Amino acid sequence: MSTETMNETQATKLVAALGKIVGPEHVLDRPQGRKKFTGDSSWLSIVAAANGRQLSRQDAVASPTTTEQVAAIIRLANELKVPVTPFGGGSGVQGAANADKGGILLNLRGMNKIRAVDELSLTCTVEAGYICKEFEAWLNAKGFCFTHYPASTEWATIGGCLAARGSGVLSTKYGKIEDHVLSVEVVTPTGEILRTPSVPRHAAGPELTQLLIGSEGTLGVITAITVKLRRLPAKRAFGTFTFGKLEDGVEAGRRIMVSGLRPAVMRLYDQNATQHSLERAVEAGLKEPALVLTFDGDHPALVDAEANECFKICREMGGKDIGPKPAEKWWEKRYVFYYPPFAPELPSIWCTMDVVADFAHITDAYYKVTKAMREAVDPKWNLSLNTHFSHWYEWGSMIYPRFKIPTGPSNYEEALALHDKIVRDATMAALAAGAVINDHHGVGMRLAPYMKDQFGEAGMKTLAQIKRGLDPNNILCPGKLGIKV
Ligand SMILES: Cc1cc2nc3c(=O)[nH]c(=O)nc-3n(C[C@H](O)[C@H](O)[C@H](O)COP(=O)(O)OP(=O)(O)OC[C@H]3O[C@@H](n4cnc5c(N)ncnc54)[C@H](O)[C@@H]3O)c2cc1C
Repeated sequence: MSTETMNETQATKLVAALGKIVGPEHVLDRPQGRKKFTGDSSWLSIVAAANGRQLSRQDAVASPTTTEQVAAIIRLANELKVPVTPFGGGSGVQGAANADKGGILLNLRGMNKIRAVDELSLTCTVEAGYICKEFEAWLNAKGFCFTHYPASTEWATIGGCLAARGSGVLSTKYGKIEDHVLSVEVVTPTGEILRTPSVPRHAAGPELTQLLIGSEGTLGVITAITVKLRRLPAKRAFGTFTFGKLEDGVEAGRRIMVSGLRPAVMRLYDQNATQHSLERAVEAGLKEPALVLTFDGDHPALVDAEANECFKICREMGGKDIGPKPAEKWWEKRYVFYYPPFAPELPSIWCTMDVVADFAHITDAYYKVTKAMREAVDPKWNLSLNTHFSHWYEWGSMIYPRFKIPTGPSNYEEALALHDKIVRDATMAALAAGAVINDHHGVGMRLAPYMKDQFGEAGMKTLAQIKRGLDPNNILCPGKLGIKV
């Protein structure tokens, strides 16, 4: 049953049936549910809602508090053939959490308990709806930390980070979310409860945990996660360098990564981003491409030694040492970029592409993607484009071009067409340059049309077969990830 065919009577019956599972006070009907959950945080959702075209069209919202309740909801959805869309913090920027096919929006924020802490192994089992920032504060009070700090820490849930395969500001040292997870508890699309082995490394067959990470709600509802903890670092060190040429900064980053050094943060801002974004926060008079570095660890002498080796490489590449102050300020203000006056609002059009490639392709990807974005827009719209290389790997890096059109077309369809053209041209340029369409924001509605370009026929067929096998009634997030079953 799709939204289009769900009449008032059926919707009322659905609300009543959900109420029997979670209690009527934890269910919203269609009007209440659409009013409270207007969509995720993507420009696509925000502009659609502002134009009376809300993308998230749930018929009911259920807010379970236990895994058993989630399983019962999924079994009910199978019985009634009603779509289910898991919803974490709604901070996604790709439109993934929108219940675009109607049915049940599964609000997971009530799944927010800490189940266990193992202070010997440094692991913690936490429920999926725990907000990242609150989880971090809870851990910090005990002297621990969870080194996954997305800029959306205030809104994103741990489950949402896994589902969207996210990344945090310390990823260069500690990895993306998939590197922080030992195991998951998940409700399968047919309503069974699966707990994957509680270790990240084993040879007991394939790694099911990793199949769930990045599945954006299509292959199961993640209800709890066992994550790695770390002790709060004994020391942080900072450094800032500027480079006459962006390429020299990229090469410094490459040499650092391939030599085994691991800054916790390594952010290389291109000239525009240095002058119009970084500089507004750090106020250090920076004009050329700038590299912000931070280091951390349990052993202060090692932190200093690692920082000094990285600084040496930056100097060898012609980097000018600006000292620790701008990087320190960046660290203190690392979230301000996402609040007013930095955060864009309507009537602007904005979006961030995040594209990842190996070192052999990353510079080419930078030039091709940013060129494509500029050329996609008539100069009369005053596009601004700020790009940084924010997450580094031992084999490559990613670019984060953030565009904004201060005042786009007032007509909704025209504004949407302009946004979609920039995204399409940038995505095609990324693929042509040998990059992957996304590093950590996930696919959602924005990139679903390009999944076939990314994976090809065989890749999409494989995804569809997995989906069909796990979700025979196509209940969970139908159509998402561009999967056609
Ligand atoms: C200002 C801002 C800054 C951001 N910075 C970052 C950043 O630094 N790094 C980063 O990675 N992302 C960032 N994002 C994007 C966003 O925060 C991430 O994608 C985050 O992982 C989404 O988490 P959420 O709980 O809000 O998930 P939602 O937006 O609610 O959902 C995202 C997807 O996951 C699915 N989902 C959610 N919970 C579950 C679950 N328990 N089980 C199964 N599926 C589920 C949803 O159906 C949807 O497909 C930013 C967003 C904003 C608005």
